[in-house]
Amino acid sequence: MSCLFCKIIEGTIPAQAVYQDELAFAFSDINPKAPVHLLIVPREHIASLNDANNDKRELLGHLLWVAADIAEKKGLGKGYRVVVNTGEDGGQTVDHLHLHMLGGRPLTWPPG
Ligand code: AMP
Ligand code: ZN
Repeated sequence: MSCLFCKIIEGTIPAQAVYQDELAFAFSDINPKAPVHLLIVPREHIASLNDANNDKRELLGHLLWVAADIAEKKGLGKGYRVVVNTGEDGGQTVDHLHLHMLGGRPLTWPPG
């Protein structure tokens, strides 16, 4: 498997892990766009949100729950943003489903 995030999950490429459980793994983005910029990924390789079939609904919900859990533990009480870039127009550059979690500063809207 040549997927970058699969290698991070396996531990063959280093990353700063912030959360892990049997379904999900979260680590710091290497090129942070906010004081807190984490990536939350399923351990299972799913290429994008578009590749998550019906049987992944629970897993998708779990990933959002992980985001909220991390936010609470990291003291992001003032707010944060969860983004799932999907496909070419969505700006997805790594083909392993991931939630960006951004916080620690006011975020503008709309994104570019
Ligand atoms: P996206 O453009 O939505 O597919 O997001 C991919 C994200 O992965 C970008 O924010 C990158 O900065 C991040 N990224 C790429 N390589 C690494 C790495 N080795 N460790 C942590 N984050 C990475
Ligand atoms: Zn992968």
